This record gives sequence, structure tokens and C-alpha cells, in this order.
Amino acid sequence: MHYHIVLLPGDGIGPEVTAAGAQALEKAAQMHGFALHTETALIGGCAYDAAGHPLPPETLALCRTADAVLLGAVGGPQYDTLPAHLRPEAGALLPLRKELGLFANLRPARLFPALAAVSALRPEITAQGLDLLVVRELTGGIYFGQPKARSANGESATDTCTYSRTEIERILHTGFQAAQKRAKRLCSVDKANVLETSRLWRETAVKLAPQYPGVELSHMLVDNCAMQLVRDPRQFDVIVTENMFGDILSDEASMLTGSLGMLPSASLGSHSAAAAGGVFGLYEPVHGSAPDIAGKNAANPLAAILSAAMLLRHSLAQPAAADCVEKAVAQALHDGLRTADIAEAGTKALGTREMTEAVLQRMQAA
Ligand code: NAD
Repeated sequence: MHYHIVLLPGDGIGPEVTAAGAQALEKAAQMHGFALHTETALIGGCAYDAAGHPLPPETLALCRTADAVLLGAVGGPQYDTLPAHLRPEAGALLPLRKELGLFANLRPARLFPALAAVSALRPEITAQGLDLLVVRELTGGIYFGQPKARSANGESATDTCTYSRTEIERILHTGFQAAQKRAKRLCSVDKANVLETSRLWRETAVKLAPQYPGVELSHMLVDNCAMQLVRDPRQFDVIVTENMFGDILSDEASMLTGSLGMLPSASLGSHSAAAAGGVFGLYEPVHGSAPDIAGKNAANPLAAILSAAMLLRHSLAQPAAADCVEKAVAQALHDGLRTADIAEAGTKALGTREMTEAVLQRMQAA
């Protein structure tokens, strides 16, 4: 098997953590008998500096030929005053996701038992760890619905929330299929007591459920879900929800786990990755470019390494290789290894390269 991966390191700590993710992919390939062809392209502020646009056409064209894309982070204070279409996030990340047809955002919130002390939750809630997945619809709903406008006198404004049954079905399929691979519980989150789009959402979920007899489907109103996530997050396995609810709930869920430096994500499309038998996707840590620590070998590489594990699982259909990476991360944490963002006061912190090396060694030993 031979896969084509595009690396988009981006700005700030992006290149440091993307290098870590790429090393984990290479190691997984060597150990699990497949080959990678990786190419690197510009995105974000560095692309604006070099080519005059944060998403150069060559970068987009290269991504279209890939089985999967691994991205670092984009942005920095020097780009904040550019017009919106030239800013790294608005001018590169959003169009990249749209152009690649990525409609499903997967955000796992996993608290490794070894890191229970850094969670915002009480120890009795976190002692056994935490492992849930938020599946968010990414291209519809109120962020994109038309009309979206300010009135002529500027005194009122309108946003429109629209969903078609087709849009709802495809994200629900992603949710059901994710639940099938995990603890087989899917909680569909909506506001069906108030919103018509939510009533269509719930009706569609009920209709699809018989296609997934092994998955237990439940429904929850979004306000209750926000509360349950901090009261008893362990009740959830997979949460599937629409764009705005998912935006808010995935950030809330991720903060239960401690540091931004631990959080991977995947954005998936519907077309198959060419060689791979998986789904084409863009994988990136949740964190930004962290200009305050860029170039200091101080970034936590684990979010990028765990993003690489998601890439192996979802786009390359290499679950054993994905497990190997995730277990190596868990083992490194279990062994007490920490970067500065997750180190308890008074304990020694490793640099980006040293933590990466520790994970690679544990992959080898697995
Ligand atoms: P940030 O995520 O870059 O940093 C927030 C804080 O978390 C900082 O103190 C940083 O040092 C720390 N941090 C982040 N990642 C870390 C890691 N891997 N290891 C250790 N510490 C880490 O968010 P911000 O400061 O609000 O944004 C900085 C820039 O990143 C801005 O230009 C913003 O627009 C951009 N940004 C990009 C993305 C993206 O590329 N997906 C996401 C968010 C922000």
C-alpha cells in the first residue's frame, strides 16, 4: 500500500508540531508495512509572505490529489490587520475546508487517566479518564444560511438556519459509523422543542437508526447537553449535532481534558481517499499557532501526533497503526513524561522534540 499525504505546517508552532505528526506517520508506516509519499506546501501567513495569498492555488491543487492532509496551525499577530480574505484563518482555513468538501468535524475529547490532575473537573469525575467524540456538521446551518444581512437602517439583523434532509443524513451517517467503531452509543443533540430544523434533524435520526441496529440512539436538547457535559461527561460516547451547537459543545468538551496541546481533530468529506479505502480528510490540532512559544522547542506535539493517528484510522484505514500511535502517547503520559503545558508545578518538562522521540520509542516497543 502506498499513500499520498500532504503536509501543511503553516505558522508559529505549526512546523514544529507537524514535523512530530509526520514522524509518527513515518514510523507507523515502517512498522505496519505501508509506504508514504509526503509533500509539503505553504498555507497561512507564510504563504501570504511568499506568494501573496494565505491559500495559494498550488496548495489547494496539491491537497486535491492527496489521500489525506495534515495541517499544523496558521496565523500570527502580524497578519491580524490584513483584509479578511487575506488573513490566515478566514482566507485559508475556511476556504480550504469548503473547497475540499469537508462537512464532518470530529473532535475527540479524551482525558488520559495520567492527566486527571490537569482537568478542570473534580478528581472524582476524572479519575477513570474520559473519552468522548463530538461529531459536528461543518458546512450548513445558521453560519451559512441565506439571507444573512443587516437591515437598511442598521437596527436589526438576520441570520437564517437551513438544513436539508440530505445534509442531515450524511452527518448522521458519520455519527452512527463513528459510534459503531466505539462504545456504540450515539447521542443526537438538537433543540427540537423550539427549532424546525431540529425537528427535521430528530425525525431523520429516528429514520436512519434501523440501519445501525448495533448502535443505541438517544436524543438530548442542546441546553441539557451543555449541562450534562460538565455534570457527568462519562455518560457520552459519540455526540452528533449541527454546526453551531457543535462549535460550542466541542469547545466545552475539549476543555474537560486539560490542555489545548492534547486535542486532535479531523474534518472529513464524503469521497473516498484514492488508494486507501478510507475517507478523505484534513487533520489538525485544535490549538492555534501559539506565537508566544514558537521556535522554542516548547510546544506540546501530542495534539498533532494524535491528529496523525486519526489520519491513519479514518483516511488510510490502518486501525492497527492508529492504535499503535495512541497507545504510545498514553504510555508516554503514563510514564510521567510531560511538556510544559501539562506538567504539574515542580516537575521536569520535555521539549517538543524530546516528547516526540519518547512517543516514537514507545511505538517501537509496542
Ligand atoms: P493558541 O491556541 O495559538 O494559543 C493559546 C495558548 O495556548 C497560548 O498560551 C499557547 O502558548 C498555548 N498553546 C497552544 N498550543 C499549544 C501547544 N501545542 N503546546 C503548548 N502550549 C500551547 O491561540 P491564540 O493565542 O488565541 O492564537 C494564536 C494565533 O493562532 C492567532 O493568530 C490565531 O488566529 C491563530 N489560530 C489558529 C488556529 C488554527 O490554525 N486552526 C486555531 C486557533 C487560533
